[in-house]
Amino acid sequence: MRDNITMQCTECKERNYTTTKNKKTVTGRLELKKFCNRCRKHTPHKESK
Ligand SMILES: [Zn+2]
Repeated sequence: MRDNITMQCTECKERNYTTTKNKKTVTGRLELKKFCNRCRKHTPHKESK
């Protein structure tokens, strides 16, 4: 079972990426460093529903 999730910039709160995760293997909230178009730099992105 993979759930679609949205990755949200932690600085400007823009939702920039969507991905999927396997709830059985991934616990807790995902955090990835991604390029944010609004911040125009790499920022940490966190999972948001
Ligand atoms: Zn941003």
